[in-house]
This record gives sequence, structure tokens and C-alpha cells, in this order.
Amino acid sequence: MDYFEPKTVSEALSLLDQHGDQAEVIAGGTDVMVDIKYSDEPGCLVNIKRIPDLNAIRESNGGVHIGPLATIHELEESDLVRERLPLLWQAAHQFASLQIRNTATIGGNICRASPSGETLAPLLVLEAQAEVTFSDGARTEPFGAFFQGPGQTSLGSRGLLTGISVPFPAAGSHAVYLKHAVRGPMDIAMVGVAVMATANGDKTALDDVRIGLGAVAPTPVRAPKTEALVSGKALDAALVKEAGASAASESSPITDQRSSGEYRGWIVDALTRRGLEQCWQALTGKEVA
Ligand SMILES: Cc1cc2nc3c(=O)[nH]c(=O)nc-3n(C[C@H](O)[C@H](O)[C@H](O)COP(=O)(O)OP(=O)(O)OC[C@H]3O[C@@H](n4cnc5c(N)ncnc54)[C@H](O)[C@@H]3O)c2cc1C
Repeated sequence: MDYFEPKTVSEALSLLDQHGDQAEVIAGGTDVMVDIKYSDEPGCLVNIKRIPDLNAIRESNGGVHIGPLATIHELEESDLVRERLPLLWQAAHQFASLQIRNTATIGGNICRASPSGETLAPLLVLEAQAEVTFSDGARTEPFGAFFQGPGQTSLGSRGLLTGISVPFPAAGSHAVYLKHAVRGPMDIAMVGVAVMATANGDKTALDDVRIGLGAVAPTPVRAPKTEALVSGKALDAALVKEAGASAASESSPITDQRSSGEYRGWIVDALTRRGLEQCWQALTGKEVA
């Protein structure tokens, strides 16, 4: 297996062009090294960790620019992320062990495109954009278009994720990321649910409710019917129950070694209800009646 350590994005892209499907990008390697050990070895590895400035986390254009090489622990340690993107911070905080968080990058989590990737449902809810670069140019696209299936992204085999742009959430919004896994943060999510909302002026109703679901469809997904069901309304017990069932109906979970699909549907229902209740309480100061 050949091994390259390009020092620039353009050098990395020309290696990807040159080696095509034979090349695999490696960043932190927490997924790639497991693959090499237990399944196929690529023809060559293109290690992008030596490219400078791809791990920045900084305020930019009314939001946060995150470099793909920022590690999950760097996100967790960032005051900017904790204070301005608490949803992403919560996902980073519930991500595996410190050893893994120290090595794993957000870009690797995104480009792996596992439906259970911890940061993916939060990025959909935050309406973040992917900065993708090919040898013939760069573009920005929403993550809804970037994720195309399990392990499939719009990068194909010749593109690099070179940045993540996350707009600041609306002032006064509240967000929660809830992960269900057998061994808590140490385990890959069986289900992950991200909920974000604001309250109306007199705090009698939720506005702009956004719900993201992880590990329950071929890609992370939003739950648009459930968002529309609860946006602009006061939450009561009946509406919360309806919303949980609605979110479950918007998921399409499979059965695998971690869980049956049926159980995942129940967890989507439960976590959606819990996320909405927590947002309601934080935004209005009241329990759901
Ligand atoms: C013990 C253990 C526990 C784990 N727990 C969790 C968990 O709790 N939650 C979770 O979500 N994941 C978990 N993972 C999975 C893994 O750690 C994450 O997916 C991690 O974020 C991958 O990042 P990385 O930098 O290590 O990626 P790598 O392994 O280097 O790469 C992953 C994929 O992304 C591609 N890639 C990386 N960067 C780029 C880029 N900039 N442009 C284009 N392609 C790129 C690579 O080619 C590869 O296909 C765990 C893994 C292990 C081994």
C-alpha cells in the first residue's frame, strides 16, 4: 500500500485524481484503521493531517467556520462552540472516549457518512453547509445534499471536505442532543435525536422547531412533518405524544446488531418527546401540562 502526506489541499487533490478509486483519505484514522485491520486495504492512503490550517475553529460571517481536521475534543474544548453552538458541543461531549475524541476529526465523522455519526443530525438541524473542494474548483452545499447514503457523499472518490460553515442559531434558541446507546458515550448511537427551537415573543408557543434524527435512516434526516406539527403551538401532553409518534413515522430504521428497527422507532418517539419537553421547559420556564 502506498502512503502519501500532502502538504497542501491541491497536492492532496492531485493525488486523489491520480489514484482514483484506489486512494483513501485518512485524517484521524479511527474509522480507516479499523477498516484496514478488519476489511479491505486501499491501494494508497492520502494522509491529510499535515495540511496546515485545516483544523481552525473561528467566528466567520455570522457563524462558525470549522476546519475538517478539528478533533472532536477540540470542538468540546472550544468556548465558541460551547457558547454559540451548544447542540454541536453536546454531540461532541457524548462522543466515545477521550482517547477517541482526541484523535477523531469532525471531517472524518462527516465523510464517513455513517447514519449514526454523532455530529451529523446536529449539523442538519443547525443548517450547516459543507465546503467541498475538487481539483477543478470548490463549492458549498447543505448537508442534506452532501449525505447520499450510508458511506456515500457528494465528494465521491476525488473530493475533499475542506470546511464546515455553521450559522449562529437564532438568539434565545434552545437545543438538546440526546443519544441512546447501550454503553452510553462509549458506544455508537443506536439512535440520536437533535431538537432545537425558539419561543414566540410572549413565550406561549414554540417557533422554528427543528428535529434531526440519526441512525434511523440511510442518512441522517430532518423530520419536517413533525417540525411543522409543533411549530407555532403551545406544547401540551397530547401534542408531545403526537409529535413523538410522528417523528417515529418519519424514520425508517433497520434491524442490525445494535437494535431491532422496531425498538429504534420507539426510541425515536421517546427521545423526540423528551427533547421537545426540555426545549419547552427551558424556553418558557413551564412544565408541559
Ligand atoms: C472505539 C471507537 C468508538 C467510536 N465512537 C464513536 C461515537 O461515539 N460516535 C461517532 O459518531 N463515531 C464513533 N466512532 C467512529 C469514528 O471515531 C468517527 O467516525 C470519527 O469522527 C472519524 O474521524 P477520523 O478523523 O478518525 O476519520 P478517518 O478514519 O480518518 O476517516 C473516516 C472517513 O472519512 C474520510 N475523510 C476523512 N476526512 C476527510 C476529508 N476532509 N475529506 C474527505 N474525506 C475525508 C476518510 O477517507 C474515511 O472514509 C468510534 C470509533 C471507534 C474506533
